[in-house]
Order: sequence, then C-alpha cells, then structure tokens
Amino acid sequence: MYDYIIIGAGIVGLSVAKALQDTYPDRKIAILEKESGPAKHQTGHNSGVVHSGIYYQPGSLKAQLAKKGNETLYAFCQQHDLYYDRCGKVIVATTESELPQLNMLHQRGLENGLELTKLSLQQLKEREPYVDGIAGLFVPSAGIVNYRQISEKLAQLIQQNDGHIFYDQRVEKITETSSHVDVTTHSQTYQAKWLINCAGLFCDRIAALAGYDILMKIIPFRGEYYVLNQDKEHLVNHLIYPVPNPDFPFLGVHFTRMHNGKRDVGPNAVLAFKREGYKKTDLNVKDLYEVLTYPGFWKIAKNYLAEGMAEMHRSFSKKRFVENACRLIPSLEIDDFQPGPTGVRAQALTLDGKLVDDFHLFNGKRSLHVCNAPSPAATASLEIGREIVLRHFT
Ligand SMILES: Cc1cc2nc3c(=O)[nH]c(=O)nc-3n(C[C@H](O)[C@H](O)[C@H](O)COP(=O)(O)OP(=O)(O)OC[C@H]3O[C@@H](n4cnc5c(N)ncnc54)[C@H](O)[C@@H]3O)c2cc1C
Repeated sequence: MYDYIIIGAGIVGLSVAKALQDTYPDRKIAILEKESGPAKHQTGHNSGVVHSGIYYQPGSLKAQLAKKGNETLYAFCQQHDLYYDRCGKVIVATTESELPQLNMLHQRGLENGLELTKLSLQQLKEREPYVDGIAGLFVPSAGIVNYRQISEKLAQLIQQNDGHIFYDQRVEKITETSSHVDVTTHSQTYQAKWLINCAGLFCDRIAALAGYDILMKIIPFRGEYYVLNQDKEHLVNHLIYPVPNPDFPFLGVHFTRMHNGKRDVGPNAVLAFKREGYKKTDLNVKDLYEVLTYPGFWKIAKNYLAEGMAEMHRSFSKKRFVENACRLIPSLEIDDFQPGPTGVRAQALTLDGKLVDDFHLFNGKRSLHVCNAPSPAATASLEIGREIVLRHFT
C-alpha cells in the first residue's frame, strides 16, 4: 500500500510528489501516468514563460503562488544546472485606449509586491527598438525556462528518492473507502491511503471516476504558435506582450524568446474539439458532445462570441494571425512566420458560464482534486506542490 498516489506526471503532479517527499522522506509515493514519459501534455506544450504574478487578483492563489513560484523555479534551475533566462518582459500599450488597463496592471503588480518599471516611449524603444507602442511596463522577474527539462529532473529526483513513477498507466477506475483508495488502470490495481488528482485536461473526469461532481467542466482551448525566421530573431529582445483584454482569461498573442533560441509568436485560443487535440482536424465525439451539451459553454459562448469568432478566424487565416501580431512589431511580414507548435489548455468552466480564474482544489474523502491549474501553474508548480502538502497533508 502506498501512502500517496498521484495521477499525472505533468509539472503539477511531479511538484506535489516532490513536496511530499521533501516533507515525508519515508512515505511511499507513486505517480500513475498514461503516457510513456513526463510532461507530454500542457507542461510540454507551453510558452516556457516564468510569469511574475502581475496579472492576478491580489490575494488569490495565483498571485501568491506565481510570485513565490517564480523565485523557487529559478532557484531550482540554478541548483540543478537547468536552463533559465531571467530576460524580463515588456507589456506594451499600442493605443491610448489601452493605457488605463496598463496602469491598472502596474497598480496590481505593485499590490502583488513586484518590482516594475513604467516605460516611456523612448525607454520602450531602448529595450525593444522594433516594437510599435506608445508606453510600456517592464517586468524584470519574468523569464523563460524549459518546463519539459524541469519535469524530467523532478521525475529523476523523485525516483532517486524511492518514489515510483509508472508510465503507460491510464487510470480507469477509482474506489474510495474510509481507509484507503483503490486506483485501477487497464492492467493493474494500486492501493494508497490518499489520492491526489493532477490529471490536467482530464481532472474533472478523474474526479467523476472517484464519484465527485466538482461542479465545473474542463474546456480545452488550443493555442497555436508561429515561429519567426532566424533572420528576424533580433527583432525580439525580451518577452513582448500586449495589454491583455481584461474580460478574457488568456494573455493575447505574444512574442517569446524560447530556450532553443527561437522566437515563438502566439498562442491564440480556440476551442479544441478534442481534449488533447493538437491539430485543427482533431475531433473526439465524446469530448465535443460534452462541451456542446454543457449549459455553461453556451453562456460563455454568448458572452465571448465576437472574441471567439475572431480567434477562430486567426486560427484558419495566417494573414489574420500575422496582422494581429504585427500590431506589436509592424515591420514583420507574412513570410517571416512559419507554423510552430501547439498546446491545449485545460480551463475549468462552471455550470453558469464562468471561467474559473483562480487555481481550484476539491476535497474528497480520501482524495484531493486539482480542478483548475491553468497558466501560471507551470511557473507556480513547485509552490502549488508545497501549498497542497501544507494545507491538506500536514
Ligand atoms: C499553450 C499553452 C501555453 C502556456 N504557457 C504557459 C507559460 O508560459 N507559463 C506558465 O506558467 N504556464 C503556461 N501554461 C500553463 C501550464 O502549462 C499548465 O498550467 C501546467 O503545465 C499544468 O500542469 P499539469 O501538471 O496540471 O497538467 P499536464 O501537464 O497536462 O499534466 C497532466 C498529466 O495527467 C496525465 N493524465 C491525464 N489523465 C490521466 C489518466 N486517466 N491516467 C493517468 N494519467 C493521466 C496526462 O497524460 C498528463 O501527463 C500554458 C499552457 C498552454 C497549453
């Protein structure tokens, strides 16, 4: 019998396992992962950005854990000789109408305890000569890492400390009793005193397997990237972000320096017709049916119809995508962009059509379910792990 079984070897599951091992070195821990290795889904398909915590509601878990997680993550990379670049980010207002929102972000960032610098037009040009903005905000603590590499290191440390990671184990059945949990995959049943569900895009279905209605559903949003041609990489010095639409949960198409030296542009946010649907043509009838018959989806679809249609359009039209990106760097042309990777975000949506903003945990009898861990959960991951152990397992 294990003390803890964790479902999912994404960065959240791995961080929870690491925090449990750090706190209880003698307890038995297993991770069950359906893929052949760690970080095969959201964690390995993201922008690689270490967020600062500027965007999030002061006092929220996201605000607290992103700021702390930012520091812990850089320290972890330094300690284990992993790639990181604390290159900083500029958030750019391109029109007068975006200035109030930029100021709001500045205030919010200060409330969240961040070091920030407002950039005049001239200061913005000094940092990013090719960006066409009227004002900006410099966030020095933002940077980039390789989340796949960090996950592999976490998995290695967990295994070195006698933790078990079982790959190719898709969890299909969960039975909770008053004393333990049975977790069954296609080939085996594992037993533990406690279960922690970190299944990302499938966390609501895992909770349902354990008999819980978490009162929200995961809606998959695909994010598509382009990559700049090598001869245009010098146009991007930092991370360059637009002022985000305050009514939308995503940050808008941005330019990101990547760990491999390339410059990614994206992601957009379109409804995916499959939970792990990385291609436009991917469709899973069950996944799509579930979305279309969920009342919350139609409420949100009504509210975000215009934005959603525009995103869809940009997904199918490179020209539209590039036009959007060129608001930030107008000298770029359509041939400077090549199709890049994609990722699918797990975003929880309530029955009454609210996108769940903060990280969300649900307590079962012998289980804990991480029900909403969207961006910046990769940044915050090591702190999410510690927080879960502190609040729920001490
Ligand atoms: C396009 C995109 C860009 C993003 N950019 C950033 C960014 O720059 N910075 C940032 O901080 N965050 C970013 N995020 C968010 C971040 O990647 C996620 O918040 C984070 O990776 C979530 O980690 P996770 O472990 O919860 O989920 P995942 O990485 O998805 O891991 C869940 C795991 O559970 C496994 N699993 C599911 N069902 C089962 C089952 N039945 N049995 C066994 N295993 C199962 C899956 O195979 C998977 O490995 C981005 C996300 C996307 C998609």
